[in-house]
Amino acid sequence: MSHELSHEPELSELSELRVVNPATEEVVATVPAATAADVDAAVVRAAAAQARWAALAPGDRARLLRRFAAAVDEHLEELARLEVREAGHTIGNARWEAGNVRDLLDYAAGGVERLTGRQIPVAGGLDVTILEPLGVVGVIAPWNFPMPIAAWGTAPALAAGNAVLLKPAETTPLTALRLAELALEAGFPEGLFQVLPGHGPVAGDALVRHPGVAKIVFTGSTTVGKQVLAKGSALLKRVTLELGGKSPNIVFADADLEAAAAAAPMSFLDNSGQDCCARTRILVQRTVHDRFLELLAPAIESVVVGDPADEKTDMGPLISRVQLERVRSYVTDDLDGIRGKAPEGPGFWFPPTVLTGVDPHARVAVEEVFGPVAVVLPFDDEADAVALANATDYGLSGSIWTRDVGRALRVSQAVRAGNLSVNSHSSVRYSTPFGGFKQSGVGRELGPDALTAFTETKNVFISTEGPAQ
Ligand code: NAD
Repeated sequence: MSHELSHEPELSELSELRVVNPATEEVVATVPAATAADVDAAVVRAAAAQARWAALAPGDRARLLRRFAAAVDEHLEELARLEVREAGHTIGNARWEAGNVRDLLDYAAGGVERLTGRQIPVAGGLDVTILEPLGVVGVIAPWNFPMPIAAWGTAPALAAGNAVLLKPAETTPLTALRLAELALEAGFPEGLFQVLPGHGPVAGDALVRHPGVAKIVFTGSTTVGKQVLAKGSALLKRVTLELGGKSPNIVFADADLEAAAAAAPMSFLDNSGQDCCARTRILVQRTVHDRFLELLAPAIESVVVGDPADEKTDMGPLISRVQLERVRSYVTDDLDGIRGKAPEGPGFWFPPTVLTGVDPHARVAVEEVFGPVAVVLPFDDEADAVALANATDYGLSGSIWTRDVGRALRVSQAVRAGNLSVNSHSSVRYSTPFGGFKQSGVGRELGPDALTAFTETKNVFISTEGPAQ
């Protein structure tokens, strides 16, 4: 119940995870933390299960994945309520997130029987490629979207014939643990999909260093992602990284300004800004800068911040006191801008905040805040907009608001980011690829090629020459 619950763990506290409701600061659950020895044992079980799983008929694997999807669907409301309690997500978002897990499993199930290799023309025989599973895959998930991000790695990895060891974030293990139970209830073999709730530097690190884990799918901070890549490289481990962002929302003077201003708030306030795709740099053409702010102010002020279980709430709390303090450190009193409202009292609340007149090189304009904070920066012309959009080490997402189709295409080509949207803020669909340029990541998840990322390509040449006479 006290603030000390969300401090950095001491060594003596490493044996358990305390799950705290971010809206009330009440302890929701205490979960034993997995040790390196637990990871070792899990890898052995996973390897055995994987061999049997890969040997199943593809249609049977697909059927089991669909049964898992159906079990998630049947428990959608329960999973959503759990997400509200452990992560403070609004109930509307949480339902979408549980539904996204179901959809990812269904989509991956459809891929099992379509995971085809190629037949390549060669002289003297037949050449075919076979897409083989990697073996045991480790998925290390963050707390900001505990269910969907866990499933982004898990669903295609399983569909491609792998076993999965999922390590959820310290603060949000409960939905992952429930998903593992549902998988077993749906008929999944024991050991195929295991959840290892634990501390990053302990259980996460053990997964990354384990020679029996063929691939790590990591989503989280760029700092830890770089460590995962470096440690994994010692074993030439396959690594996919989905990291941070500081994404631009570029509003040209010829855009539908009313629509752009109406859409801007939730493009960085959704999930209280704890979203790697949050459009936190609002770049506005100078000629419409003031008009845009006039339109934006009431839109920000009308965002409903409060009890995430209330259907009318737009934005809930931040995940923890640590995160709240981090966000506070970026927003000093001397900065001008638009401030929304947030509840007082228990819970990790921070109001919607738009900062104006900020130096483009200021910390808040450059670093990922991971909270409900955006900056508005003016630009002069298209070249200036592109230069400003690209003036970041990140390259995850971005939006372009204009009525000029040619400009929309030119700017989409010029912005160095993996996921762009024109006249909207859409980034993530299970059926389209997702991932970052530059320091936002390595590799792609989701989309039509998601399963292939969990396979090795084997080339087999079969001679058609008869035996030598
Ligand atoms: P984090 O990097 O601290 O933790 C992410 C995960 O890594 C957690 O499960 C954590 O336990 C684990 N971890 C921590 N240290 C580890 C280590 N030494 N070895 C192995 N695993 C370790 O990040 P966070 O605070 O949980 O999440 C917020 C960050 O994640 C933000 O920077 C955000 O941008 C990023 N993120 C990116 C995406 C994306 O898709 N690109 C999505 C969500 C979040």
